[in-house]
Amino acid sequence: MKQVDGEKLLASLGDGVNQLRGRLTPDAPMDRVTWFQAGGLAELMFHPHDLDDLVTFLKLLPEDVPLTVVGVGSNLLVRDGGIPGVVLRLSAKGFGQVELAGENRIRAGAITPDKHLAAMAMDHNIGGFHFYYGIPGSIGGALRMNAGANGGDTSQRLVEVEAVDRKGNIHVLSAADMGYSYRHSTAPADLIFTSAVFEGYPEEKAKIRADMDAVRHHRETVQPVKEKTGGSTFKNPEGHSAWELIDEAGCRGLMIGGAQMSSLHCNFMINIGHATGYDLEYLGETVRQRVFEHSGIKLQWEIKRLGIFMPGREIKPFMGVTEE
Ligand SMILES: Cc1cc2nc3c(=O)[nH]c(=O)nc-3n(C[C@H](O)[C@H](O)[C@H](O)COP(=O)(O)OP(=O)(O)OC[C@H]3O[C@@H](n4cnc5c(N)ncnc54)[C@H](O)[C@@H]3O)c2cc1C
Repeated sequence: MKQVDGEKLLASLGDGVNQLRGRLTPDAPMDRVTWFQAGGLAELMFHPHDLDDLVTFLKLLPEDVPLTVVGVGSNLLVRDGGIPGVVLRLSAKGFGQVELAGENRIRAGAITPDKHLAAMAMDHNIGGFHFYYGIPGSIGGALRMNAGANGGDTSQRLVEVEAVDRKGNIHVLSAADMGYSYRHSTAPADLIFTSAVFEGYPEEKAKIRADMDAVRHHRETVQPVKEKTGGSTFKNPEGHSAWELIDEAGCRGLMIGGAQMSSLHCNFMINIGHATGYDLEYLGETVRQRVFEHSGIKLQWEIKRLGIFMPGREIKPFMGVTEE
């Protein structure tokens, strides 16, 4: 049974939408967006053509319509009841440019793949970005998640971010304004990041290439990168590795429905072919419970869970813990 009604929402927006140049899609399947290839419908998906188009849309969108921005879905678990309101996906044409912006500086649109930023930096002998080479997300996702790996993270390289708020006003935030900590930003939740400027340092191309190759080789060896996954399921608790706690609690390879904790890297959940959002979240909460029983440590979700449950298929945190 459908929990959202995109045609109705689209009709409620009136004729104002005719001036938009981007694409509006009612009832858009989120399993085509998420790396898990699971989850329900986005009630109404909007791909703004460019920044002006985005601002126009935000100004005509009533304040009570929920708005969710997604990147390329590599850190998302979407529930089977779908995502009410509008889901915003930035278009590559309007938000996918990457260019030099001064000495050792690069400006990247928010839907630019992290990998492209790393490659651009290497081409121009700018060091400090090789860690992005192994992260399969977009710059927008990296800005929100403080994405990082191999000792580097977004906060170390960021100079400033351009963002649009829910009312369509444009802001420029400094790195300090982003309030970064491990895989977290305190920047207001309603901000849509549209582009950012990063700064690295001079480095030999050969050294950068070697670092990028090492990142790729390491990932292909220890992570299920070819599977339908959302990356690390849980954050590493202070002083611990999430995967070790999961392993010690006997959850490596644990399976519920079509969802499994990877045997290769047991902090990665994978869709082994037919997982629903329910299977994935149920598995995650089961792991949290078992880890808590085994070690007394409460794992916190790193993956962002979006949307609503199907009726009768609700999942409560098994320990009554709220993470965020
Ligand atoms: C195989 C694999 C390996 C991974 N390895 C790593 C790793 O080493 N390190 C790491 O940090 N992550 C890793 N991840 C997780 C993921 O790639 C990162 O979190 C990435 O930054 C998410 O980017 P995305 O574009 O996919 O964002 P999404 O998953 O689409 O969204 C993630 C969050 O960002 C928000 N968001 C996205 N775009 C915007 C925007 N323009 N404005 C405002 N908010 C926005 C969304 O609302 C959501 O809250 C991995 C994932 C996979 C599948």
